[in-house]
Amino acid sequence: MAGFSQLNPMGIFGGTFDPIHYGHLRPAFELMEALRLPEVRFMPAGTPPHRERPTADAALRLKMVEAAIEGQPGFVVDDRELHREGPSYSVDTLLDLRAEYSHRSLCLIVGMDAFLDLPKWYHWREILQLAHVVVAHRPGWRVPDLGPLRELLVDRGTARVGDLHDSRAGRIYIHAVTQLEISSTAVRRIVEIGGDPRFLMPDGVRKIILESGCYAQSAERT
Ligand code: ATP
Repeated sequence: MAGFSQLNPMGIFGGTFDPIHYGHLRPAFELMEALRLPEVRFMPAGTPPHRERPTADAALRLKMVEAAIEGQPGFVVDDRELHREGPSYSVDTLLDLRAEYSHRSLCLIVGMDAFLDLPKWYHWREILQLAHVVVAHRPGWRVPDLGPLRELLVDRGTARVGDLHDSRAGRIYIHAVTQLEISSTAVRRIVEIGGDPRFLMPDGVRKIILESGCYAQSAERT
């Protein structure tokens, strides 16, 4: 395909990552391969606007992401949201990236649950002016048959990977990934009650969790 990777698409995977687990890593990897993304950036959120404060502090969440992606070519961490004051709005991050990489295709990766919430995001319509949105199917979630998201999908949806390489922003691509019903909430609960999160995440992340004790006390705090 002529000029297939001219726009050097960047996958952007934001999350609280409190902690990062295989439910994040495997879909990101599958998307990187399927969409032929040269790079997927993991962006830990500072103060997430749509939810309560993370349990592990920013430095520790960043350390866990670094440990998780170690040795995987194409996976990189970008900590810009951790340095910003106030809520981590995706639109601000995308504005930042767009200013820095004016010619690249930007592909914002979200799970289906996050996509269903998109109309609640700050300046959500602007997001598609700045980036494509790539949706990873998540167990138990589907796009509603009616409403703004359905309309958006009719308008902007594509099943062509090439569209993410041919234009810099504006398309929505839904991709089925291996369904791993792991959530950070479930991981934190396991650790809180003294359980072992082994096999839910890379060993390096598990080690940080156990050594720091970052989730051991969270039941007492909530
Ligand atoms: P929590 O349980 O604390 O809500 P989480 O496991 O959903 O956390 P986040 O850091 O909030 O993790 O998620 C970041 C992104 O990863 C979101 O877009 C979310 O939809 C996606 N995601 C999280 N877990 C999975 C999973 N098991 N499969 C696919 N996508 C996932």
